[in-house]
Amino acid sequence: MAIRNPEIKYKELFINNEFVKAESGRTFPVFNPTTGDAICEVSEAGPEDVNKAVAAARKAFSNTAPWRTMDASERARLILKLSDLMERDLCYLASLDTLDNGKPFTESLCDLEYSIKTLRYYAGWCDKIQGSTIPCDVSLADGEFMCLTRREPLGVVGQIIPWNYPVMMLAWKWGPALATGCTIVLKSAELTPISSLYVGSLVKEAGFPPGVINIIPGMGPVAGHAIAHHQDIDKVAFTGSTAVGRKIMGAASESNLKRVTMELGGKSPLVVCSDCGDLDEAAELCHTAMFGNHGQNCCAGSRTFVHESIYDEFVKRAVKLAEERPVGDPFDEKTLLGPLVSQTQMERVLGYIEKGKSEGAKLECGGARLGSEGYFVSPTVFSNVTDDMTIAKEEFSSMDEVIKRSNNTEYGLASGIITTNINKAIMYAQAVQAGSVWVNCYDVCLPQTPFGGYKQSGHGRELGKEGLDEYLETKTITIKVQRKMS
Ligand code: NAD
Repeated sequence: MAIRNPEIKYKELFINNEFVKAESGRTFPVFNPTTGDAICEVSEAGPEDVNKAVAAARKAFSNTAPWRTMDASERARLILKLSDLMERDLCYLASLDTLDNGKPFTESLCDLEYSIKTLRYYAGWCDKIQGSTIPCDVSLADGEFMCLTRREPLGVVGQIIPWNYPVMMLAWKWGPALATGCTIVLKSAELTPISSLYVGSLVKEAGFPPGVINIIPGMGPVAGHAIAHHQDIDKVAFTGSTAVGRKIMGAASESNLKRVTMELGGKSPLVVCSDCGDLDEAAELCHTAMFGNHGQNCCAGSRTFVHESIYDEFVKRAVKLAEERPVGDPFDEKTLLGPLVSQTQMERVLGYIEKGKSEGAKLECGGARLGSEGYFVSPTVFSNVTDDMTIAKEEFSSMDEVIKRSNNTEYGLASGIITTNINKAIMYAQAVQAGSVWVNCYDVCLPQTPFGGYKQSGHGRELGKEGLDEYLETKTITIKVQRKMS
């Protein structure tokens, strides 16, 4: 059950398993996008707080610290305990995300369930991280050297996350970091910091040693900047915009060449073929691909390409679905579209709509702010969009053409195709330059399967076994075999 006015229990930085005020005493307001009202003030981390959190994480990572000396299966037990506590408080946590993000409560619940599954998946990896032995003097049955590799945790990791999936992005980042034995300094997004702080209290309740997980809400250009430039952080895992991703890579290069992984933006194509099967189902899939998570989804299928033979029928259905999508109070179970996350985001979206109109696209429905309270925009559909417009793109006639146009972007996060022809699906899946391809489904990210971007959508992978690699160093140990035995 949703809690309409959840009590905000934790508003301070979580460092060394304690809630503490920022050194500067500064706070910042968090807003409810449904009303525009302030919810509470949260402590704002500055560079000195980043230093404090990094020092705690470094201490927790030292060779003799409990986190480094405990059995790997004990690490798994702690992660499982944390997931159980998140499950216990599922409705409360989901309510916090709906309150400060505006996403419908049903979607917040899905995020939470998926976050818990992700943590449980990674708990299973803790005692299965192995190196290898390498035959390295092949001329001899038993060589002069014995070589083996160890997979070791990278160390102290900085994690910077966006506002569109406040708990889920945390779980994607914590799962592999904890499974491999790293320690964490997480900066939550300034628009949505409250659920992550509550998860901090669960970290302590689960029994994680102090310093293993630290959570510091703060501003990107201040706390985020300090993490990216820090000399004692071994890796930054970032999810957010491509523009900030560039800054983070630059900071890594200017500071200590820390490892960087990045999940960035996308402009993902979703292709509807003439042999898509049921056109109603295809339109519904495209609709959800676009409007799921109130359209604020990195993988949103925001470039729908429809075969010319079914284009007009498809547009009719797309318009009907958009017009009928229930918009409103995100705590209402019937609502499928809440407000956009902030005034800035609402203005950005309205700006794109104006650009679409001025560039000559046909506004089929929506296109305006709804009401004067909160940050609601009506579901909007454009037709007659061309590749050169800011809001892209549309009709196609051949597979060759749609593959070329799908790839005609600097991004490569996700893609999809709806067809009953398996060869077409495979051909598209092989040719499209994107980290994920969904056939007859969309946005199916699973804890077990790697996720990440081609081109300017990012570096590295999260989730799945590949997600672990991003938190591990490989050490080669070469041992000379002494053949003369005394
Ligand atoms: P953003 O890049 O503005 O902010 C993301 C995070 O970076 C926030 O925590 C912010 O405080 C921090 N930040 C901002 N400036 C910084 C700086 N100079 N140094 C260090 N950190 C800084 O992005 P946003 O608008 O909050 O998030 C939306 C973006 O995230 C979209 O582009 C979306 O596509 C992308 N996204 C990608 C994925 C993915 O997995 N690829 C998932 C979710 C969101």
